[in-house]
Amino acid sequence: MMKYFSSRDNTLRLSASRAIYQGLSEDGGLFVPDGFHRFSREELEQLIPLNYQQMAVRVLESYLDDFTKEEVSAAVAAAYGTGFDSPQTAPTVSLDETTHILELWHGPTHAFKDMALQLLPHLMTLSAAKTGDGREVVILVATSGDTGKAALEGFKDVPGTRIMVFYPRDGVSDVQKLQMTTQQGGNVWVESVHGNFDDAQSGVKAIFTDGELKRTLSEKGFVFSSANSINLGRLIPQIVYYFYSYFTLVREGKLALGDKVNIVVPTGNFGNILAAYYGMKMGLPVRKFICASNKNKVLTDFFLTGCYSLDRTFYTTMSPSMDILISSNLERLLCDLCAGDSDKVKKLYTELKQSGSFQVDEETKTKMDGLFYGGFCDEEQTTETIRRVFEEKNYCLDPHSAVAYHVLEQYRAQTGDGTPAIVASTANPYKFSDSVLTALGGSAQGKTGLQCVELLHERIGLPVPEAITRLKTSPVRFTASCEAAEMKDAVLQFLGGKA
Ligand SMILES: *Cc1c(COP(=O)(O)O)cnc(C)c1O
Repeated sequence: MMKYFSSRDNTLRLSASRAIYQGLSEDGGLFVPDGFHRFSREELEQLIPLNYQQMAVRVLESYLDDFTKEEVSAAVAAAYGTGFDSPQTAPTVSLDETTHILELWHGPTHAFKDMALQLLPHLMTLSAAKTGDGREVVILVATSGDTGKAALEGFKDVPGTRIMVFYPRDGVSDVQKLQMTTQQGGNVWVESVHGNFDDAQSGVKAIFTDGELKRTLSEKGFVFSSANSINLGRLIPQIVYYFYSYFTLVREGKLALGDKVNIVVPTGNFGNILAAYYGMKMGLPVRKFICASNKNKVLTDFFLTGCYSLDRTFYTTMSPSMDILISSNLERLLCDLCAGDSDKVKKLYTELKQSGSFQVDEETKTKMDGLFYGGFCDEEQTTETIRRVFEEKNYCLDPHSAVAYHVLEQYRAQTGDGTPAIVASTANPYKFSDSVLTALGGSAQGKTGLQCVELLHERIGLPVPEAITRLKTSPVRFTASCEAAEMKDAVLQFLGGKA
């Protein structure tokens, strides 16, 4: 039986459904698996012909062992169906013999968050049914853009759930704002908050920790939960596409089963790259994990020195989903590298809280060096990469994916390692149409996001996703706006009357 323990207290042991329902451990730690199912050679061979849904069931079932196989299959079928505009769900496109782009943006909101957030609601309602007491699950999200929309699409009209998203009024792009304010669904609410992302985030945290509010709503039959990337239910679906991409390349004769690959990931909260690492623990043949950062390069410095330090400037970049100082899921990697020694992990994170930095020991650093490479890409290099790759390969990268591509080139030049690489591509370029248009020599000045989409389309020819075209004519459903201090009232109103 696979159990999950807290990265800060390994004496706690929870089932998968408990861990998903609860989200975060009460001691502040993250839930991690106490072991991995390692596929045998024979089992790996059986994975070769599988389609995305079949692969998902095979990868997920070992993690969800208090779910029946029928439950896992039904959840996967509901998640990875017609909402994706590619029959492969996550196709892999080869730019040359050793550079393969894993496109994770064919879901309903065209960002990689869909890969997990299309499945999470189903795992959440199943978990609630197993461990909860029949209360309705209320998902609260503070978003700087992509997560809010992907969570809305995932949870819309899922029975037994409601979802409320708060976004900073002046902190999201035109396209992102329209995507959220035109959201369909009978169980959704979207509201803007006066202030920046931190104000919205602090408001949500205050609601989560308001004991009185929790009790009041509990009596009314509601329980809060979160859809952010520290939830296991968001992490484990991301393991699937690394297997799927690897076996796509095997099927196409570009790899032989057992050949090692390098995996390159544009990294923010460290969830996506950690999922690849968990894949390796299950038998995926990986040589190096290449962790790509933008100008906010806390992770590059960490992999170089073993010191994680928050003493640095925060930059706003054209790859906003990677603008981050605290990469939460790194804690899960450290826990694994320390062989589950949660006292050691707890000490590091207490230090981070108290002094703003920690340093890992020699043993951990050596393990990291063997498996990880960290590199970063500044704004100019991002622009240059988008332009050059389009010119040379006729392939348009979004800014996040361009960061990953550049760091791969840097790694190859530095090490001479020509191992075939799978590069995670995390957003459709139209989602960041102004930056991409500018990189390709166009002018975004004075134009709306949707106008930039049209101009970019003329330039690159890639079909514009229907969901983005539709924004022009979709009615706006949500115009409400509040102060951060009023968010609690907004929640109460959404859930039916004042307490
Ligand atoms: C969230 C996101 C990332 C970062 O992924 P992590 O799992 O947080 O490291 C990268 N690119 C895009 C487009 C994203 O939305």
